Amino acid sequence: MTTETLSTRSAAVEVHDVHKSFGTHRVLNGIELTVRPGEVTVILGPSGSGKSTLLRVINHLEKPERGYVSVNGEPIGVRRHGDHLKELSERTILAQRSRIGFVFQNFNLFPHLTVLDNVTAAPVATGALSRPEAEELARDLLGRVGLADRARAYPRQLSGGQQQRVAIARALALRPGVILFDEPTSALDPELVGEVLAVIKDLARDGTTLVIVTHEIGFAREVADQVVFMDAGRIVEQGPPAQVLDHPRHERTRDFLSKVL
Ligand code: ADP
Ligand code: MG
Repeated sequence: MTTETLSTRSAAVEVHDVHKSFGTHRVLNGIELTVRPGEVTVILGPSGSGKSTLLRVINHLEKPERGYVSVNGEPIGVRRHGDHLKELSERTILAQRSRIGFVFQNFNLFPHLTVLDNVTAAPVATGALSRPEAEELARDLLGRVGLADRARAYPRQLSGGQQQRVAIARALALRPGVILFDEPTSALDPELVGEVLAVIKDLARDGTTLVIVTHEIGFAREVADQVVFMDAGRIVEQGPPAQVLDHPRHERTRDFLSKVL
């Protein structure tokens, strides 16, 4: 077995030479990233550096012009044919995407569904679980995020922190191989940030594979296995938190950290 096959097999997420432009604006410029199973990767970088686009490429909400992403060894959205990449059917892409959790800055819960139905909707719709199975799992997951008693509430009746915890339970309901978080606490009042970070820390402790875009540096120092600093569509540096956060090698990283710390 070659080294390349080995590394592909052991990676939860592998981003290989990804380039993405919008019109003439190059937003991702040759991204290489490996996320190992059970690890937490925190992505930092200034606004506009391409962090959200990178997450969206990982679950193929955006299609890269060059390069590809593999999740658990399987290329997302494409199939390799020798040197060529062939686009998969929309149906296959949806099935692949359903195994990747995504938690958004603004929660994106279904406003007309109860908390319980928000969590059961996807596993029932995809046929992964029967309704009773999905409800049992949902009650379990709501307990895990501290919301067992809010199953019958509607999102508008919850605080932002509670809504984001429902969104995390909803992501977990698909039993994803990896969960992507795009600034999960940026829209929250400061006093609600801690309860959401506590739930994410709990997932990290349980060995869930997480990729998290956040500006919470203290959190990154505590839970990240690797910290990735992006600027202008490139990874400027990456490594363990003690290296990137405390001994950054690049001026741009130092400059960014001095502004957010
Ligand atoms: P970040 O999350 O780091 O703030 P983004 O990935 O959201 O950065 O955006 C990177 C750049 O790409 C920004 O300049 C943004 O305006 C641009 N961009 C993102 N999405 C689109 C889009 N769908 N169409 C055009 N430009 C976009
Ligand atoms: Mg963003």
